[in-house]
Amino acid sequence: MENIDWGNLGFGYQDADYNVRCYFRNGKWGELETSSSNTINIHIAATALHYGQEAFEGLKAFKGRDGKIRVFRMDENAKRLQNSAEGILMEKFPVDKFQEAVRLAIKMNERFVPPYDSGAALYIRPLLIGTGPQIGVHPANEYLFTVFVMPVGPYFPEGFKPTDLVIMRQFDRAAPQGTGKYKVGGNYAASMYEGKKAKEGGFSAVLYLDSKEKKYIDECGPANFFGIKNNTYITPESDSILPSITNKSLLVLAKEMGLNVERRKVPYEELASFDEVGACGTAAVISPIKGVYDADNDRWFKYGSKPGKWSTKLYNKLRAIQYGDEPDTHGWIEIIE
Ligand SMILES: *Cc1c(COP(=O)(O)O)cnc(C)c1O
Repeated sequence: MENIDWGNLGFGYQDADYNVRCYFRNGKWGELETSSSNTINIHIAATALHYGQEAFEGLKAFKGRDGKIRVFRMDENAKRLQNSAEGILMEKFPVDKFQEAVRLAIKMNERFVPPYDSGAALYIRPLLIGTGPQIGVHPANEYLFTVFVMPVGPYFPEGFKPTDLVIMRQFDRAAPQGTGKYKVGGNYAASMYEGKKAKEGGFSAVLYLDSKEKKYIDECGPANFFGIKNNTYITPESDSILPSITNKSLLVLAKEMGLNVERRKVPYEELASFDEVGACGTAAVISPIKGVYDADNDRWFKYGSKPGKWSTKLYNKLRAIQYGDEPDTHGWIEIIE
């Protein structure tokens, strides 16, 4: 058994011992299976490969100071995967079975759950793909659901560090009534080109405006957007953004901290009036943003090089709940036993 250097984990793929699989065949889901192989054997004409019939999820398990392993809001991930499945005509995976598969994947790979003081976590990746063959454009008649895990380091190894975003109007991530609201690979394929361009320019991600009018803020490539001003946490309402579970949780916490919360259309111009801006998602909880560069108009919106007061409070609060340092008063945590 190799030793894991918990202090130097990044966010990269790493093998664990086992993964969990479940097959939909002959009109029904089978039993959960475990495998120690990291490959799958699928048909050359599987719809996932040709027509993008695939959706995924991402969540984390955390080891507390008490040595217990906690998973955060996995029922939400299970429901969201069902929603994604419906959106691209895949067979829905039952919520209870999803939860069972995640528990099993954690337990079978317990030695990969990082210790409390490392600040690292176990990343869990559920995946649903069409495996049945089709060459005409039709939904598959067979599906594979799988869950694999890997330890990942803290997103900010040197501490909570603000980065810059870039707006480039010539690129769209998702169409207004398209698949942006589903967690499907196609949205990621569609955003890789400009994502790479953004990184080459020194930005952490693209900030997308709505694809139709380019008037309102949508979200970042892999994370939701929020801004804070006048004691209010504001996050965009849009049919083409992915409903982030982190954002949903931050809205609750912001309210409890005494902030007003608004989910509404956020005009581009409002970027000039925020005191704090952030990107949020499972990977980092909150990535504070120090600047947004509008590349088309050579215009900067600046928010200071240090994380804002509210972003820091929200980040610390959510992390404390996830690691069990603060009580879970919302029923967001399941302890894996
Ligand atoms: C997964 C994802 C997010 C973040 O969602 P969380 O549930 O908070 O991890 C945001 N935007 C997109 C496009 C995503 O795919």
